[in-house]
Amino acid sequence: MTAQGVDFRADVLAIAAHRDDVEQTCGGTLLRMAARGLRTAILDLTQGEAGTRGSAEDRAREAAEAARILGAGWRQALTLPDGRLENTLENRLAIAGVLRLLRPRVVILPYWRARHPDHAVAATLGYEACFLSGLKKIDTGTEPHRPFKIVYASLYADVRPSFIVDITPFIEQRHLALMAYRSQYAHQEAGGGLFVPEEEIRERTLAEARHYGLLAGVRYGEPFVQKEVGLVDDLTLLPVQSI
Ligand SMILES: [Zn+2]
Repeated sequence: MTAQGVDFRADVLAIAAHRDDVEQTCGGTLLRMAARGLRTAILDLTQGEAGTRGSAEDRAREAAEAARILGAGWRQALTLPDGRLENTLENRLAIAGVLRLLRPRVVILPYWRARHPDHAVAATLGYEACFLSGLKKIDTGTEPHRPFKIVYASLYADVRPSFIVDITPFIEQRHLALMAYRSQYAHQEAGGGLFVPEEEIRERTLAEARHYGLLAGVRYGEPFVQKEVGLVDDLTLLPVQSI
């Protein structure tokens, strides 16, 4: 794991169900935020013990390496059950404990409609944990903290993004972070029919990033949904060309 100091404070915290989810859906954004001098952190909710390939130990090592490549200052995995994640009070409290420790201004969650049930649960579980974390009367031994902003990484959702983050300068680095998961993506027999061949991962992930980039007039992008409306100060500074 990367620096686990109890004093670490995050500007941006990405929460996801599985190790390697963040690399796939918002790794470029984390890289961009880190390049802006912001402190980024990653909380994986499960250890990956239900995965077809590799052990939870393999994944822990790979996740630490990926965090280093992404420039994240903090990464940990909770021990919620992989493949059967549930939105329980106990789980909300576990996440609230991390939120109160790291005190992020922004939390990135997966989009709430997803093929994998863990991803959908992580969205509502994460949202409700953010709420709970702000309640003074919920005692976790640390000061209450509610993030200012929650955005949903929507790369795999069939939904129109609210905004795109331009990750063009970081596309190669993001790919390296994903490929740190050798147990998942290197060539092997186990799960051969289930997993995309290594050489195709690059083409697929770059094609997705290109698609979302095109929506915003940049080369590569990552999509996000926010539930709130946008607020504008100066119309002449609005990005993304209309015609
Ligand atoms: Zn996942």
